[in-house]
Amino acid sequence: MDGISCDRCGKGLLLDEDVRYLVQIVVQAAYDPMEISREDLKKSNRDEWNSLLKKLETLTEKEAQDQIHREFRFDLCPPCQRVYLETPLPGLSSAG
Ligand SMILES: [Zn+2]
Repeated sequence: MDGISCDRCGKGLLLDEDVRYLVQIVVQAAYDPMEISREDLKKSNRDEWNSLLKKLETLTEKEAQDQIHREFRFDLCPPCQRVYLETPLPGLSSAG
């Protein structure tokens, strides 16, 4: 992700290609963990919260952050862009 070479094949992008592609992948939790209402707090019992807090304590700040939000950026040359579009998610074929 230096903008100069393809992150997939390593080919130089500025010299060899007129076009380059930027792939941005955002992986984030499908809820906002900061939006915990008073009602939620009332519903959950103390033990649940204690075990959750214990779990969070064992994570580093980065690990906790990764569980909530993670961003990837890749530069791709045109041939790699085509290959990438075939299988954006390995193991999941984009049939159709
Ligand atoms: Zn490439």
